[in-house]
Amino acid sequence: MIVKFVQSIKMSIIKIHNNYFKKYISEEKIAEAIDKMVVQITEDCKNETPIFIGILNGSFMFVADLVRKYNHSCKVSFVKLASYEGTNSTGKIKQLVGLNEDLEGKTVIILEDIVDTGNTLQEIYDIFADKKVKQLKIATLFFKPDVFKKELPIDYIGISIPDKFIIGYGLDYDGLARNLSSIYQLITPPKMKNIVLFGPPGAGKGTQADLLKEKYNLVHISTGDVFRYNITNKTELGMLAKSFMDNGDLVPDEVTIDMLKAEVDKNSAANGFIFDGFPRTESQAKALDDFLEEKGEVISGMVALEVPEDLLVTRLLERGKISGRTDDQDESKIRNRFNEYNTKTAVLKDYYQLQGKYFGANGVGSIDDITKRLSKIIDEL
Ligand code: AMP
Repeated sequence: MIVKFVQSIKMSIIKIHNNYFKKYISEEKIAEAIDKMVVQITEDCKNETPIFIGILNGSFMFVADLVRKYNHSCKVSFVKLASYEGTNSTGKIKQLVGLNEDLEGKTVIILEDIVDTGNTLQEIYDIFADKKVKQLKIATLFFKPDVFKKELPIDYIGISIPDKFIIGYGLDYDGLARNLSSIYQLITPPKMKNIVLFGPPGAGKGTQADLLKEKYNLVHISTGDVFRYNITNKTELGMLAKSFMDNGDLVPDEVTIDMLKAEVDKNSAANGFIFDGFPRTESQAKALDDFLEEKGEVISGMVALEVPEDLLVTRLLERGKISGRTDDQDESKIRNRFNEYNTKTAVLKDYYQLQGKYFGANGVGSIDDITKRLSKIIDEL
């Protein structure tokens, strides 16, 4: 099954069936490589009208981009290598389908998306070699020098890559991913369960995180708690954060992001994290995605507690009486925190929804009922 593949097409890590792929070669790098190939081919074919022959299916995007940049007379054709059962003892016989051109005396340039062992290319090459062409050249966008076993000359190489499984830009995995404009590489699957526990101030994130971290053996990071710890201990970070927090404003992103990274790195052996109170801005969300990606990890999902605002104000004022948190005691500061939430944080619902990772839960009810609702979501992540 593809998990939200379409929505995550712009992501740097995508999941197809149960495999994860990470963005590896950008559109720009591919375009640069093709530009160079076009310059070389143009130089070599000054007095010729070459026939470009793309090997389907994988080469369609490469061929389209290359011939669009080739500003001289040329012909374009496609073939497909098909195998059928032979009637004699030789078993499978390979045949080129779609080759209708008369190639005698012509300059033929085979366009391949990728050459690895060279086995397929050798079969194609052998078929063309019988056609009395004037010259037979090979151009491949991607080439794996470490596994190439043949003596064939490859005349034009776009990008040499190590022996890794790649998809995108015409190359498929189970027929999928050909439409991606960049190249993605197979990676080892993420090991952690990373949950963003989301919701407005007072939604019950802290209470639920304490229960969920035990249940799922995760490390709970509450950026609010870390700031408060630093304020109590009068650290430099605490001093810096205090004025923002007292007013119900967000602490600046750079400070918060650095702090969050340090907290994650302190727990590198964790099974995963519950992020509570982070990310709170889009730039924090992007920073978190990038940071996890460097570790080969991803956010598994954003689990959101949905609670009406009026109920939240009452809850926060009640909490302020017990906890002594100054930002919970003054209604105007509470309103400002909601304002910060609505203007900067609420957009994160869209951010994760676009990745197919937003899961809302009703945050009104008994603590136990809400834990059950959240667990049902987390179990399926
Ligand atoms: P909380 O305990 O999550 O309600 O956070 C209390 C306060 O800490 C917030 O009102 C902010 O001033 C600050 N804070 C906590 N997390 C963040 C964050 N991710 N970005 C910016 N400020 C934060």
